[in-house]
Amino acid sequence: MALTICPWKHNKTWVYSITYDEALIDLHQFAIPIHEEYGIPGHVEVVVGQLGETRNIGNSSYNGYRHMNAAELKDLLTRGWGIGNHSWSHELIQPDMVDLEIGRAKDVLEAAIDAPVDLYCAPGNNSNMSDHVLKACRKHGYLGAMSLTDALNRPNTPLFWINRTALHEQYYAPFFSEYDPFRNIRHAQAQNGWIIDYCHCPLEKPIHPNKDCSHLQLRKRFETILTEGGDNVWCAVPEEVLFYHQTRRHTQIETLSDTEIQKHYRLHLNNLSDRVTCRTLTLHADVPAPWCRSPNVWIDGQPHLAHLIEPRKLQITITVTDGMELVFKDPSA
Ligand SMILES: [Zn+2]
Repeated sequence: MALTICPWKHNKTWVYSITYDEALIDLHQFAIPIHEEYGIPGHVEVVVGQLGETRNIGNSSYNGYRHMNAAELKDLLTRGWGIGNHSWSHELIQPDMVDLEIGRAKDVLEAAIDAPVDLYCAPGNNSNMSDHVLKACRKHGYLGAMSLTDALNRPNTPLFWINRTALHEQYYAPFFSEYDPFRNIRHAQAQNGWIIDYCHCPLEKPIHPNKDCSHLQLRKRFETILTEGGDNVWCAVPEEVLFYHQTRRHTQIETLSDTEIQKHYRLHLNNLSDRVTCRTLTLHADVPAPWCRSPNVWIDGQPHLAHLIEPRKLQITITVTDGMELVFKDPSA
């Protein structure tokens, strides 16, 4: 196949996202300014039953801190952040609770922020990734579910078990650990991985060493992501990555003709969810060297600039549609 879809947008090698469970207003104290400084978007996970209220959940380390309200969450959207459902109550979700915790929580949150909520994020632990919870996530139209498993995600990762890397000062006993700003990066570089960091609300000192990092540790993490990643890391909110992942996996390329003067393809978007509202793909086309002097692609008959990225290889990043036709051709023909 001379036309292929890159594993990640912009042909980046690996991907970095970060999530903040509980969506506390105190993120403005340290975390959000660091995001603004480095240009990396964040993502908050909202306990919908306590939207805007001071936290009061069991013996949570964050009781007494205030959850963001709708206007404060909308402000994050304008900063390029994303918002997920962290359940209604933050309790262990039993089968008879899914309509409230997964369904109603999503509806209420979407109405509050006036935007789709495509991601569920398990509260507590992976007990909230049980079969009945994930089944309810599919039924209520989520695109993915985030767990508390420390592992990479890959271009073919199942989206109803997305892994997250705990960006915490120390791990729980018996696996005590030292904070590692390089955590999972080399692994991601080698395996086209997608790291999603997970913390709560970094302050000067972590509220709990097993649940958070400090603001200096967060800053060190971003510096490390960018210095290690250089041009090869794609920093994006999880939804943008999910949209790419879904569009790539549902796109089929049909070759209509492949001759000495042109290569003609048609794209088929098979069963792609309407909730995938950004349908951008980065594609590579192998073409003869003489065509690279004027690197163009004709998309449904209209010429667009393509980029030469190595000899005989052109790259384009485009919004795709079902039935779209792409033609690469000899500019002298
Ligand atoms: Zn939580």
